[in-house]
Amino acid sequence: MKTYLARLPQDFMSLIDAAGALASARNETAYLVGGFVRDLILGGRNFDLDIVVEGDGIAFSHEYARRLQGRVTSHHRFGTATVYLAHHLKVDIATARKETYPQPAHLPVVQPGSLRDDLFRRDFTVNAMALQISGSESGRLIDFFGGRKDLEDGILRVLHPVSFIDDPTRILRGIRFEQRFGFIFERHTLGLLRSALRQSMLERVEPQRLRDEVILLLKEDSPRKAIRRVAALAGLSFISPKLRPDPDMMRTLAQIERRIPWFQAHASCARPIEKWLVYFMGLVGGLSVPDIHAVCRRFVFRKADEKRIVSCVEVCNKAVAALAKKDLRRSEAFHILDPLSYEVIILMLSRTDRKLVLGRIMEFLKFTSGTKISVSGHDLGACGLKPGPHYQRILKTVLSAKLDGRAPDKSSELRLARQLAREEMNRKGQQHASSRTRQTGD
Ligand code: ATP
Repeated sequence: MKTYLARLPQDFMSLIDAAGALASARNETAYLVGGFVRDLILGGRNFDLDIVVEGDGIAFSHEYARRLQGRVTSHHRFGTATVYLAHHLKVDIATARKETYPQPAHLPVVQPGSLRDDLFRRDFTVNAMALQISGSESGRLIDFFGGRKDLEDGILRVLHPVSFIDDPTRILRGIRFEQRFGFIFERHTLGLLRSALRQSMLERVEPQRLRDEVILLLKEDSPRKAIRRVAALAGLSFISPKLRPDPDMMRTLAQIERRIPWFQAHASCARPIEKWLVYFMGLVGGLSVPDIHAVCRRFVFRKADEKRIVSCVEVCNKAVAALAKKDLRRSEAFHILDPLSYEVIILMLSRTDRKLVLGRIMEFLKFTSGTKISVSGHDLGACGLKPGPHYQRILKTVLSAKLDGRAPDKSSELRLARQLAREEMNRKGQQHASSRTRQTGD
């Protein structure tokens, strides 16, 4: 395994070396565990350093953070801590622990244990290997359950028969790994998974935990495949009793998958796209608005996210219809698209194949998005126009003129702004005069 470690970037190696040295100084043993070891063997990249200490993980993490000038957050109840370091690096550190599940599908009771206990509480054999990083046996792979062989064979195998009953979120985790790595469930494991589903175990999990797993699933490279697999094995009623994996939904998800790269190729995004959110909207978009609210509440989405999801779904269809109108000016298309988030625009792209609509969105993304005018409220004030909501209206009219080619340069923008300001003042003056007339009865 030393050769695997040699592949790691230097800054990672120094974090691992520092943990190993600290463990030796404290007379404890430290191990890399979980997905990090799995991905190291697979040759993939994983930046989530996960360390288990046979000893006192919390005290270890504080000393580790002190040595590397990091910051710690810890959960004494679970014996876990996260150390945050410079350059956005973070290391999870835990005391080796044993878990027991007093009730199926509920959180476990945790107590300190051996490394073997700690590996035995894990989801699949491929995630239950450890790599020692301290002492004379540093670099040794510890593989009690045949994880390495399963990894080579591409097999997902649980560690004991009640694994999916103890923690049914492992069903969704398993599907995620199956799809990500192209692995298959070992036959007995698949039987246990189906049996847990027949007992409706997913429905017994705390909804927030299900939500987190669904989001992780939607963050995968190809969530469509994973959703299709979840739907085939488990159905989607654990998300909403009304949710059916119908062809429309599957088509939308496939379209989203195609449109995300299209969008990225045409737009210069100022922030990363929240892909999971687009897929989530694609997933629930066929439900009625009250049903979407119900899903969001059950999953305890933040109020702001709930509002965003519902309004995105609502706005999307209206915006597609508006963009499909025949004689739409460039500025009108701009004002439809400009207030929308990237996520809604991608959802719109997934809902239509009409060339007219796609062309308008492309024009917006490539050319008109981000268009600014040179005149400002200051110029309107200089004309003597008092500030008010009409400022925004006038500036929007100037922007439209620019987009439609009627105010191609700064001086024509200014000319138009001044003309509109004068018209506004005249209108105000007339209003003023007519209200005076009413008061005096002249
Ligand atoms: P990913 O590559 O998606 O991050 P990961 O395997 O690193 O996958 P994490 O959620 O970071 O997953 O968990 C780290 C490790 O903790 C896992 O590899 C597994 O050993 C263990 N683990 C996580 N969740 C569970 C669970 N629900 N049941 C049992 N073990 C778990």
